[in-house]
Amino acid sequence: MALLLTKDGHVLARSDTRLADIDPRTGHVDVSLLPDQGGRYANYPQSLLLALTPSGQLLTQSSSGLMIRGPSGWKTLTTENGLPQVPILTLMFDRQGDLWLAVLGRGLMRALGYGMWENLDHHDGLADDVLWQIARQPNGPLWVASDGGIDAIGRPPGVTLAHRHYDKAAFSIALDAFGHLWRSVGSAAVACITLTTGQVSTYPLPQVSQILHGSKARLWFITEKGVYIVDSAPAPTAPQPIAGLSGSVTTAVVAPDDSLWVLRGQDLLHRHADGSIIFIPLHWQQADFEPLTLTAGPAGVVWVAGAGGGLYRLQLDSDRIVSSTRFQPPDVISNSIVSLLVDSRGWLWAGTDNGVSVFNGRRWASATTADGLIWDDLDQGGLLEDSDGSMWIATSHGLSHLLDPMQLFMKESLKPVITSVTVGETAFREQAVPYTRDAFFIQFGVLNFRAGSIVRFRYRLDGVDKGWADTASGYARYPSVPPGNHRFELVAYDPLAHQVSAPVSVLLRIRKPWWLWWPLLALYFLAGAGSAYGVLRLRVRLLVQQRQALKREVELRTAEIREAQATDSLTTLLTRGEIQSRLVRTLAQADRTSQVAIGLLDIDHFKGINDRYGHLAGDEILKEMGRRLKLALKPGEYAGRYGGEEILIVIEAEQVPEVNRIHLLNIATCGEPFDVDGEVIKVTCSIGMAHEHARDEWKSLVGRADKALYQAKAEGRDRIIVSVRDAMI
Ligand code: GH3
Ligand code: MG
Ligand code: MG
Repeated sequence: MALLLTKDGHVLARSDTRLADIDPRTGHVDVSLLPDQGGRYANYPQSLLLALTPSGQLLTQSSSGLMIRGPSGWKTLTTENGLPQVPILTLMFDRQGDLWLAVLGRGLMRALGYGMWENLDHHDGLADDVLWQIARQPNGPLWVASDGGIDAIGRPPGVTLAHRHYDKAAFSIALDAFGHLWRSVGSAAVACITLTTGQVSTYPLPQVSQILHGSKARLWFITEKGVYIVDSAPAPTAPQPIAGLSGSVTTAVVAPDDSLWVLRGQDLLHRHADGSIIFIPLHWQQADFEPLTLTAGPAGVVWVAGAGGGLYRLQLDSDRIVSSTRFQPPDVISNSIVSLLVDSRGWLWAGTDNGVSVFNGRRWASATTADGLIWDDLDQGGLLEDSDGSMWIATSHGLSHLLDPMQLFMKESLKPVITSVTVGETAFREQAVPYTRDAFFIQFGVLNFRAGSIVRFRYRLDGVDKGWADTASGYARYPSVPPGNHRFELVAYDPLAHQVSAPVSVLLRIRKPWWLWWPLLALYFLAGAGSAYGVLRLRVRLLVQQRQALKREVELRTAEIREAQATDSLTTLLTRGEIQSRLVRTLAQADRTSQVAIGLLDIDHFKGINDRYGHLAGDEILKEMGRRLKLALKPGEYAGRYGGEEILIVIEAEQVPEVNRIHLLNIATCGEPFDVDGEVIKVTCSIGMAHEHARDEWKSLVGRADKALYQAKAEGRDRIIVSVRDAMI
């Protein structure tokens, strides 16, 4: 049984088979039978749930997935929508409206693009998933040309499909204003199908790559031997060649004024409605750029793009290029652009081999399979704006329908949060804290989730940092912070999506220690005490205090110097000498109750990393490894640089240290790739682990770990081997 309190104060309750709507004010109970008779949740009655979607619709499980109660009744989401076969135990919507599911035996799943995308493929009745072109019949269905023929998708989309297969693969299709469907047939003809009667007229034509729709109900055929035209009429007629546009053209587009822009080799041709043709030579920043697709926007703008080249916005004035702007990744998501479209909003859409990008004149946004797009590889004729402003996107793996394109720009505003501040071991909660030599540790993150995105942070501690520090990890550490008020400011950004968050901040208030106050105290006493004796006593006391402060200062500095000698300058781990003497001391402690184990870690193929990325990059990795490892160590654990790229980890614990602990430290140290100057470097490590025996000495213990390390290398690296003699004991 599941319960839900709705916004209007009703209580909804569901059992396996029924839904009750209770109005607590009137006591009225309305019970209805659910469309799905359940069964799957018989063994998980406690997991039945009721939830509201961000748009306020009721959502609950069905025996085959989920069901949603919309205005026209229940709609089901099943395995065909990508839902799992097994029970859904709980679900939630995050602040971006994404749906998360906890699934029996499968962990956590995120429903991609829930509420934003509808996806169709052969499961939904399409003849084939390799799509070539899509076209909307005015006030009629959407027509889809694919490797399997031509399908019509009725309205409302995604609910019912009217199928009409013409069994041959179709590369290009178009619809005219008189209910004719034109399609390419093989490589030497086009056919015109009268949709009401099914009558077909076929006309010979050189291989057609595109059929374009003009604003005056005219169709243009782009063929390998030139451009042909048909003036749409109640009875179909044969396409006629256009004088001046014979020979092969790359592609063309019809402008809103019914003029035609044609791409032919390195030339742009503009055929005006009166039949005149202007040649516009093209010159590109990259000599090898090969233009492949174009589109025309309002106000004399023509966009040209190509495979492996880039995207150019050309501003023309009376058929003369006055300026040209190039767009590249990361603005547009890929350099391989196969289709372009300017929609009625004036937005530019670019279909690529890696998803779709859109430019609203100010900002770029992109969508890939990680956002709910059915497939990342788009097709040449695969972008279409529908009459309601939604977008259809054809791919080589099915059809996507982006219901509200505006959401692409709204989805991703980054929201950083500072999750915790600790001083030494204590949590800081905006209170003023006394001055301390303990480190400040500030953790942060973002509340957004977008698979595959990169989030980085810039932060600055006012009065401590001179500039902004940049990091990909979610923390900042300050070994010591001087007294005073310091604001810690944080900004999150996504370098790929070109997004920068608004800053968030926290104020660190650190009180002055007494010795910074003593000149003031002195004045106070001088004014208050007055007498010579008082002054004398005060002076003596101040002298004593001063000496004590000095002594403490000397002790601190000495400790710092000792620490500096004991730590390795690159990794900031202990030096080999220091870790050795500590381990020797620990092993020799007679009255000890703790258990000691060690792990000898060696980076795999580090020579190769040096060779490939340079020694400086190798050094950066070692430095970062040291930093990560130190953060992961618990009390009783210490680590030192044993050799060039070898680290010795010592664990002293109440219980016999388990291999799992070494495993966790390994993950903390080597698990994440290293970002060295924008280069993402993956590193694995091998570890030999050994436990202490009675009468063990430094040499024998490290010797066993070294042997185990050797074995880990021999067995293929990226693993932990526990010394066999330990395992037997
Ligand atoms: P594997 O351990 O997997 O057998 O291969 P490896 O390539 O890591 O081989 P090995 O451990 O024998 O070699 C260690 C290499 O690490 C040699 C040296 O180039 C490199 N190295 C050692 N210390 C440093 C250092 O401080 N900085 C850099 N950049 N490289 C170092
Ligand atoms: Mg080595
Ligand atoms: Mg190595």
